[in-house]
Amino acid sequence: TDLVKYYPIKGGVLRRKVGDVKAVDGVSFELLKGETLGIVGESGCGKSTLGRLLMRLEEPTSGSVVFDGVDMYAQKGRAMRKLRRDIQIVFQDPYTSLNPRKTVGDIVGEPFDIHPDVVPRKGRRKAVQDLLDLVGLNPEHINRYPHQFSGGQRQRIGIARGIALNPKVLICDEPVSALDVSVQAQVVNLMEKLQDELGLSYIFIAHDLSVVRHISDRVGVMYLGKMAELGEEDDIYGRPTHPYTQALLSAVPVPDPTLRDKKEQIVLKGDVPSPANPPSGCRFHTRCWKAQDKCKTDIPLLELRPDGAGEHLSACHFAQPREIIETIDVSDLA
Ligand code: SF4
Ligand code: MG
Repeated sequence: TDLVKYYPIKGGVLRRKVGDVKAVDGVSFELLKGETLGIVGESGCGKSTLGRLLMRLEEPTSGSVVFDGVDMYAQKGRAMRKLRRDIQIVFQDPYTSLNPRKTVGDIVGEPFDIHPDVVPRKGRRKAVQDLLDLVGLNPEHINRYPHQFSGGQRQRIGIARGIALNPKVLICDEPVSALDVSVQAQVVNLMEKLQDELGLSYIFIAHDLSVVRHISDRVGVMYLGKMAELGEEDDIYGRPTHPYTQALLSAVPVPDPTLRDKKEQIVLKGDVPSPANPPSGCRFHTRCWKAQDKCKTDIPLLELRPDGAGEHLSACHFAQPREIIETIDVSDLA
């Protein structure tokens, strides 16, 4: 609720604070049990910082995270350790997030060292082998090193580590972005299988709109530290109401050549402004083709708009659904 994370900028010889990078600036949403909430946006929009705040890898400047009725940032010691078991993370890069000097058994079993009460020491090897099996790796390979695995297999190792403590929520920060498209599909399918079997909830952070569409039940679109639009996957992709979402979707290439000419491309002017000095009013107004005077002064709230269906929220004063030619091909992910 109202999560804010500012990083101070220091300048001059005295290294005095001269400003803030407003990485996350007032973000609120809910994650439901068993669902996948996709978070999309260009690099620098704050989506990874948001993921780290939800894991308490960083403390927020203000705002709160309530998990199962418990205010996470108010917890200490044992209660916080319990919460840490429930919320785990899978990182982007399977090449750098695994220690090359440790065996797969050590890597996947690492969470048991931090939470020794989960599996008794005697049972660790078996527990790790079961995890390898669950993510589609050969349990016999427990003594191998990360470099002996392909990129997709390494991400399976990262996932095995992520689910070792039987968490309730998995935060996945660009989990397949570093992988080839064909391998992406296998890893995404594995994640869906695990979600069903283990009753996991996912926060799936990515910049790839097709992968997010494929896996998500709901999607949030971030721009410069704020949520621009939030809703069911069908609504966000089928009838987006925020001009930024419309532009993002219009930029996705059309696989079907007969549709290619029909697709309208919305080209945004300029670059993303610096999060150290975001525009007044609506942060998108410097690049928005629909911007009016009001947009420069009034911050649009993320709320239900007149034409929005169900729980489709939009942070635009002039939100209006716009059909974007269906261009996202999810068949190759099926
Ligand atoms: Fe564009 Fe104004 Fe809507 Fe912002 S509030 S997205 S500037 S029309
Ligand atoms: Mg799903």
